[in-house]
Amino acid sequence: PPPVLSVRGLSVRFLVPDQGRIAAVTDAHFDVAPGECLALIGESGCGKSVLASALLGLLPANAQTAGSAHLGDLDLLAADERTLARTVRGRRIGLIPQSPAAHLTPVRTIRSQTEETVAALTGVRGRASLRAAAEKAAARAAFPADHLDRYPHELSGGLAQRAATALALIGDAPLLLADEPTTGLDRDLVDHTVDELRRHVDAAGDRALLIITHDLAAAERIADRVAVMYAGRIVELADADAFFGTPGPRHPYSRGLLNALPDRAFTPIPGMPPELGTLPEGCAFAPRCDRATATCATLPPLTDTVACHHPVQAQPLAPVPEDVRA
Ligand code: ATP
Ligand code: MG
Repeated sequence: PPPVLSVRGLSVRFLVPDQGRIAAVTDAHFDVAPGECLALIGESGCGKSVLASALLGLLPANAQTAGSAHLGDLDLLAADERTLARTVRGRRIGLIPQSPAAHLTPVRTIRSQTEETVAALTGVRGRASLRAAAEKAAARAAFPADHLDRYPHELSGGLAQRAATALALIGDAPLLLADEPTTGLDRDLVDHTVDELRRHVDAAGDRALLIITHDLAAAERIADRVAVMYAGRIVELADADAFFGTPGPRHPYSRGLLNALPDRAFTPIPGMPPELGTLPEGCAFAPRCDRATATCATLPPLTDTVACHHPVQAQPLAPVPEDVRA
């Protein structure tokens, strides 16, 4: 079957006075297949949310895009605002935004916003039916019924997150785009949320999920494949079992991410990500990489799913030390 989402050569540049061109996303290339959950991971500022905003046509006016992103026959990057607003957002792409509080309407209760979304996106009609459907939607996202009459400012971050998740699932959209959907949730609720997203994808044959997350445990729990982003580029695309298990990640940056985890070696990657306004010609990770050589001054293409001149060959991560595992 054709992919639900097919991204080809997607780049986003921001034109900023005095700073020039900020290369937030460069040449992203990936598909998300029906039934698949793809996790997009990478440090803060690497371009994950900008990529998501580009797919939804939600970039600010100073952004320039290149490439294509097909959702079925529709190129999201070429679509006009009217098409995106009327047929894409909510209906064909369900979005869980990174700052849910900012996307909820401040002057209306969660119940009223949920009922309105149910009315707009489903065939449910009538007061009692809308009320019941809204309560059901809230329950799916573990949003407590006794908080439905609250306003967004009366909610904790975790509750606003759950309200946003409830709203995003209502339209049964074929593509779910979840940008940090577990922020502010404790472990049990993280598990509940990712399991609910997984169930949503599995409930019909034509659905897929692109989940952006800092939470590698959540990524491991839900993802079929992993895309690792560094300084605006996808540097590795991997099967999740191989990535989190054996043979482990192949890009030195991906290995660094996993080795920084508390339940791993707990070794942070030295140095800082580069400024996106002044990226080097070659591999952007080379200055922080212990495998870098002179060759890395030229850009490594994404060959065989890893963009690295010196990828790690089939080598499991160092075993978790006994004292940490306990
Ligand atoms: P986080 O994990 O913290 O959410 P992220 O990977 O989602 O990070 P993005 O929000 O996608 O990061 O930002 C990528 C880069 O684009 C950042 O360097 C950011 O400063 C820059 N950026 C985002 N929006 C704009 C804008 N409107 N103008 C200029 N630069 C921008
Ligand atoms: Mg982000």
